[in-house]
Amino acid sequence: MLTNEFTQTLQLPELKIIKCLRTGKLDSEFELEKTSQFEVCPKCATRSWTIYDHVWVRIKDAPIRDRHIYLKIKKRRFYCKKCKKPFTEPVAGIRKGFRTTERFRKHIMWCSDNFSNLSQVQRQLDISSSLNHKAYYEQLGLQIKTIQNEWATTIGIDEHAFRKNKKGGYREFATIFVEYSHKRVRELALGRSPGELFSNEKLMAIPGRENVKNVIIDLSKTYHRFASDFFPNAKIVADRFHVMRLFNNIVNQYRKNCTGDKRKNPIRKLLLKRSADVDPHVRRAVNRWLDENPSVQEVYYYKEAMHRFYRIKGMKHAKRVLIKLTDQMALSNLPEIKTLRKTICQWRNEILQFFENGLTNGRTEGFNRVAKLIQRNAYGFRNFENYRRRLIYRTM
Ligand SMILES: [Zn+2]
Repeated sequence: MLTNEFTQTLQLPELKIIKCLRTGKLDSEFELEKTSQFEVCPKCATRSWTIYDHVWVRIKDAPIRDRHIYLKIKKRRFYCKKCKKPFTEPVAGIRKGFRTTERFRKHIMWCSDNFSNLSQVQRQLDISSSLNHKAYYEQLGLQIKTIQNEWATTIGIDEHAFRKNKKGGYREFATIFVEYSHKRVRELALGRSPGELFSNEKLMAIPGRENVKNVIIDLSKTYHRFASDFFPNAKIVADRFHVMRLFNNIVNQYRKNCTGDKRKNPIRKLLLKRSADVDPHVRRAVNRWLDENPSVQEVYYYKEAMHRFYRIKGMKHAKRVLIKLTDQMALSNLPEIKTLRKTICQWRNEILQFFENGLTNGRTEGFNRVAKLIQRNAYGFRNFENYRRRLIYRTM
């Protein structure tokens, strides 16, 4: 066992085992040393052959068959003639000032990902919770740094609540950037205003903004402003489901005036469904109900018209239908329909863009759910950077 092959398997090839101090049921400890002829001064890169003195360091390594491994390393200190100072020799696989090997830190990350809770990891590996957290998030950071590609051609942008700012009493938001072709979260930024996003260093560091062709957003003006500045050559697509939601909200509002706010009332769901998706005999009942409640009938009509609009194939046809629909809405006496018409007209190009490529924000919404799940599993995050690393790594 006491061969150099063993240190090879430990991924510490520079070290040689001097002797085995202990091999027990619970742990093993070895004495090791480095055998290079000279070392290079980390400050001035001068080679040094002069050994100044020794120090002993005790390093923890990843367990082997549930047995904790400790490495007692005799580190030499060399004297640099140029700096007139001694320096400690480095060991590949153990970072300077660390008391754990890289291999062990990777192992901590693996356990933290695969065990059901972190206290189990800490018990299993006999480590403190602070080392557990530190090593875990540090390794996540290293992993997500391997994503280096340019922006994908299609990007979905959406927001979700991140945490409550206790001092200001307001809710903080995070903006998620999803790459459609890679099916992953490319970046997560704190905040949602163009100012906040443009000052985000990590976002700005990703190359190839000018190559992005499509950006899908909900109907928010701030994202529109940001997306058109940030991705100068991209076409902006208004997400179809968010457009439908505007209509659904008005239907709900008018229905509440008739039936009250009982969520269990079956008509609530039936009115929001596309009438073509409802069973014919149920549809007849819905229509009878609408006849009795004419105030809902009109908004329901526009909602259905919008559903039909989204079934259209081809941009030209869609353009014509949208003009017809907004003209119709202009004649309505309902104030909600009038403001809705205004919104539709403002977003006209972005809504029509859907008929060019059929893109929706469904994938982004899906990752939003993952984000919320991660937040819940962690009982919320105080540190945004940790949250960012967790989310990006999860979808890698
Ligand atoms: Zn030096």
